[in-house]
Amino acid sequence: MWREGLWLRFLLTCAIGVCSILGDLGLKHGKSESERAVFDNMTHATVGGLTWTLIVVLSQKPLIRNMNSVFSCFLLASFIDLDHFIAARSWHIHDATHLQKRPFLHCTTVPIVLWILFIFLSNTFHSPILEHTSWVILASFLSHHIRDGTRRGLWFCPFGSTRPIPYYLYVSLCMFLPYILYWLMNLHTFAQKSNNNITFIDI
Ligand SMILES: [Zn+2]
Repeated sequence: MWREGLWLRFLLTCAIGVCSILGDLGLKHGKSESERAVFDNMTHATVGGLTWTLIVVLSQKPLIRNMNSVFSCFLLASFIDLDHFIAARSWHIHDATHLQKRPFLHCTTVPIVLWILFIFLSNTFHSPILEHTSWVILASFLSHHIRDGTRRGLWFCPFGSTRPIPYYLYVSLCMFLPYILYWLMNLHTFAQKSNNNITFIDI
């Protein structure tokens, strides 16, 4: 049982890395602009879904019961790119991919602020669902932003952007993001328990 879990973690970690690299190859060699955009977006969605799957496995929760959250993370990681169309005020792929500046959902300050807000609300209303949502938002956005970050860096508006993330650092970050988030989730649960506020995150 323990060994099975270890294998599953290993496979999912590798799957995140392989999927990111394959997605980048597709982006590089795609024939048309729309083909490249669809391939890139599907990669974002798959990496997002795999990120939450690995978090569920690390938490030793049943995957079947958590498919909703896996799917939410998958969809959210994909929907982030809709802001290209909103900023371009056009449904044409060329307009959406040739913006003057990065669209608003690509600012990493957004998920951090949302995460803090949802954690605050979940503490105020003692709502495990809001807390759970805060982590799904953070996982989907960060997996998307780190992938985009290898081309354009991380954007922390209004403070500015980092340099583009070196390629293998970005792949490693994508692979280790679920572990980092799982660790943070545990820290948060531990802090809550120390405050005698017994609200467990049921992911
Ligand atoms: Zn994007």
